[in-house]
Amino acid sequence: MIDPLLLHIDGKQVPAADGETVAVENPATGEHLYDVAHAGAADVDAAVAAARAAFEDRRWSGMRPRDRARILNRAAALLAERIDEFARLETLQIGRPLREMRAQMRRLPEWLEYFGAVAQSAEGTVPEFGGDHLNVVRRVPLGVAGLITPWNHPLLITMKKLSAALAAGNSVVVKPSELGPAVPAALVLLLEEAGVPAGVVNLLTGLGATTGRLLSEHRGLDKLDITGGTETGRTVAASAGRSLIPVTAELGGKAPVIVFDDVDVADAVAGALFAAFIATGQTCVQGARVLVAEDVYDEVVDRLVNRTRRLRIGDPLDPETQIGPLVSGPQRDRVAAAVDRAREQGASVLCGGRVPDGVRFADGFFYEPTVVAGVTPAHDLWYDEVFGPVTLVRPFRDEADAVAQANDCPFGLAGSVWTRDVGRALRVADRLDIGIVWVNDHHRIDPASPWGGSKDSGIGSENGWDAYRGYTRTQSLIVNTGAGSPDWFGSSADLRYS
Ligand code: NDP
Repeated sequence: MIDPLLLHIDGKQVPAADGETVAVENPATGEHLYDVAHAGAADVDAAVAAARAAFEDRRWSGMRPRDRARILNRAAALLAERIDEFARLETLQIGRPLREMRAQMRRLPEWLEYFGAVAQSAEGTVPEFGGDHLNVVRRVPLGVAGLITPWNHPLLITMKKLSAALAAGNSVVVKPSELGPAVPAALVLLLEEAGVPAGVVNLLTGLGATTGRLLSEHRGLDKLDITGGTETGRTVAASAGRSLIPVTAELGGKAPVIVFDDVDVADAVAGALFAAFIATGQTCVQGARVLVAEDVYDEVVDRLVNRTRRLRIGDPLDPETQIGPLVSGPQRDRVAAAVDRAREQGASVLCGGRVPDGVRFADGFFYEPTVVAGVTPAHDLWYDEVFGPVTLVRPFRDEADAVAQANDCPFGLAGSVWTRDVGRALRVADRLDIGIVWVNDHHRIDPASPWGGSKDSGIGSENGWDAYRGYTRTQSLIVNTGAGSPDWFGSSADLRYS
């Protein structure tokens, strides 16, 4: 096991300048896994300075896009070889079942390949400036980006941000979550092994309230990109505002799963289960509100509760396990408190709602997958993001009622519509105030497909061309193609400003 995990600054593995460390534990057993360096102000300064130096001397930003893409493709190939090792390490530190971790990680090389291809196909524009002028609009990299990532998908989310930032020619400083830093740290080493020059990718481990805050407040950055809770997002966006730099913020969610009465109920229930309980419910697009047409409500709820009771909770390294622990004790306590509050407010817990019995669960942070009924807008559970294996079920009357209930939410990240009626699916999608709508599916993601939300779910987007452009700015190059040069203060009385 890695002990302690070091900072990565200017191509070197170094401890924190003041020697501070933070412990990381295995959420399935409570055992100490390793210590990570806790970066302080001097380390943040050093990492930003290294990234700046790498950007300024053009060792990466000045490389031809096709050469950058070649290196990113090499990194993709190296990553594909290490999936099993990385998946196991990720499972150990965040407790997500190994079967899910492998499935997710197998796709991650695609992000490096996709953004390498985008970098090679990016083009500028030539607006019709007119007269004796040629106007070429180019996209240039921003400079140094600070990437702050959460614990729930440590590698996926780091990869989404890094691949776009690097493909566009930026240098970066990555701050992974204190709960899941090992795999992002291994990725940084892998990128350098593939040929990304030293200094281009720097990594600072440590606590959010110190290292994360110091990074986001640093005046040496040209962009901030955060995935995390909404309050953290507001804080980081406020820092970006003070520095007048762009920010991308992928924040919380409370995704509706809208089930119409024309569905195959078994399929829709399988979909709702997938939406609600993958990653033990710890995803920003978790199906947290299952809204069901009145006619099929009882049948859907019966089946959903039955299947939820049969989910296999256990050791996340066991390939049979479907539900692992929550990531930490405080996270488990937050989930339990949200369910207790719903009970106090009069909702009915149909299944789960407790820590599972048994000695094998005693030291980890387990919580049973939970379905709650009878929740109304008067209950906290209707609006609050739980970020755990808890979903609520509620009936709706008709299409308009389904849309109104789904939109009655502070978040606007994602949701799914389950129906065989194409017209209805498109009508409902059109009226949902959310960034990602799945029809007869949930959770699907692709590097080419924009990912981002409205309202308290944040601003900007990951994936696709928008993410690439978000790591560039335009430079408008205006060339005088006329025979003479302008003489504004010359003798002519006929001034033209064009
Ligand atoms: P947090 O907001 O607690 O943390 C996110 C990151 O920010 C971590 O690296 C954290 O460090 C850091 N951080 C914490 N405080 C500060 C601060 N004051 N200044 C700068 N950085 C800080 O979120 P979680 O890690 O708990 O992740 C869960 C949240 O992320 C949920 O709300 C979820 O919905 C959202 N999320 C959104 C996604 C999306 O695509 N929209 C995807 C996945 C998750 P540390 O962990 O060390 O404290």
